[in-house]
Amino acid sequence: MTLPMNAQKVSMKSIERINELSGENVKVCMQCGTCTSACPMADEMDFFPRKVMHYSQFGLLSSLEDINSYWKCASCHSCSVRCPRGIDIAKVMEALRLLVLRTSKNHIEPSQIPPEKLKEFPGIMMVAGFRKLTS
Ligand code: SF4
Ligand code: SF4
Repeated sequence: MTLPMNAQKVSMKSIERINELSGENVKVCMQCGTCTSACPMADEMDFFPRKVMHYSQFGLLSSLEDINSYWKCASCHSCSVRCPRGIDIAKVMEALRLLVLRTSKNHIEPSQIPPEKLKEFPGIMMVAGFRKLTS
């Protein structure tokens, strides 16, 4: 895989922000791909978890901005319990969501959900979904 790496894009500050928000150290990832093979959502993701980790290692946030991987992540921790480097990848995915949400960009817009659909959705799904997908 070719990373779009140059002096403008590689960002130590972004790496530090991801590490700070996640409580993890993305730099220790050795790109083994175990997280991807363990992920039940990988087929739905634009970037597999391993690739998300690779871009995170170089702070390439602009390349991670518009992908769906961290929104699709189900926070199941299947990857985290298998990572040979002990990285909680689910927390890295959460950190990436937070970085987007902190720019006040909601992933879903509650006001655009049709009222008839709102009546059908279970309350717990709404609470969990809004917590994860809105700022
Ligand atoms: S399992 Fe861990 S070390 Fe392997 S690619 Fe995923 S995050 Fe990196
Ligand atoms: S926590 Fe997210 S990235 Fe990890 S295995 Fe589960 S769905 Fe995949």
